[in-house]
Amino acid sequence: MGKKVIYLKSPEDVEVIKQNGIILGKAQAEVAKKIAPGITTRALDKVAEEFILDNGGKPSFKNYNGFPATLCISVNEVVVHGIPGGRELKDGDVVSIDCGVYKGGYHADSAYTYMVGEVKSEVVELLRVTKQSLYEGIKQVKPGNRIGDVSYAIQSLTEGHNYGVVRELVGHGVGKFLHEAPEVPNFGKRGNGPRLQAGMVIAIEPMITLGKRFVVQENDNWTIRTEDRKAAAHFEHTVLVSKTGYEILTTFEFIEEVLEQNNLVVL
Ligand code: MG
Ligand code: MG
Repeated sequence: MGKKVIYLKSPEDVEVIKQNGIILGKAQAEVAKKIAPGITTRALDKVAEEFILDNGGKPSFKNYNGFPATLCISVNEVVVHGIPGGRELKDGDVVSIDCGVYKGGYHADSAYTYMVGEVKSEVVELLRVTKQSLYEGIKQVKPGNRIGDVSYAIQSLTEGHNYGVVRELVGHGVGKFLHEAPEVPNFGKRGNGPRLQAGMVIAIEPMITLGKRFVVQENDNWTIRTEDRKAAAHFEHTVLVSKTGYEILTTFEFIEEVLEQNNLVVL
């Protein structure tokens, strides 16, 4: 994860991250428009890259530790860090698309899991609960609470549905670096971990599995999939700890405007 210091952000820094969050949300929406059976994940990557560059940003992930693309595209049993390529989406898939925008010296980071056509009801429910867990985690964000309060909220909801909580990957601080301190695990105990302070910006990103929580890495040294090959879901927002609570700096609004037209919003 790199740096251990927690960098607090000024209101000006936060404004930059928020503007990046809007570019990011619109890039995600351009991708959402194209999600359908038959499209390759490489084609989706190109849509996002062009949109971000056209808006004066840089894709946060491209060349990050050698990652070769703008998007992490993770289909079905892939949890995170899938590399875009020649794979075509097909009816019944779920696909997590994770994206970051860097502009004005700061990153914004967000992910959403999409349904491709008709998806099995147990997987739709996984997506619904995972997204809900993101917001349950966010509700715990306020000065004086601890990271463990966020972690516990996510874990208790999702394990309450008998889902698996991935432990090997966690949320993180966001700022001048894509990944800063503190780590934000999706499992933990109330009252534990670093204390939240106004000015902290964190990416909260539950990675939740339909089966067991165990994951393995593919030979490409990036792709993380479930060991039992059951589906996974992933939703992420970049969130400010404000003086009184929280402010979400990324947005699903543009994505969901697109998805509403096809009744594919994850409720
Ligand atoms: Mg992300
Ligand atoms: Mg992240």
